[in-house]
Amino acid sequence: MVKLTCPICSGPINIPDDALPGEIYEHDCGAMLEVVNNNGTLSLKLLENVGEDWGE
Ligand SMILES: [Zn+2]
Repeated sequence: MVKLTCPICSGPINIPDDALPGEIYEHDCGAMLEVVNNNGTLSLKLLENVGEDWGE
């Protein structure tokens, strides 16, 4: 696991070592975070998914 910091609430979030850029994880605070690869280092950014609530 890789421990990263939520960009929204600054809380810790664990991401699997084999996470791939583009994968989405939901943090405890409700933020949807997209995995990005910065020169070989995984980091997280807020998923820009404004608009329709296309969930169930
Ligand atoms: Zn968070």
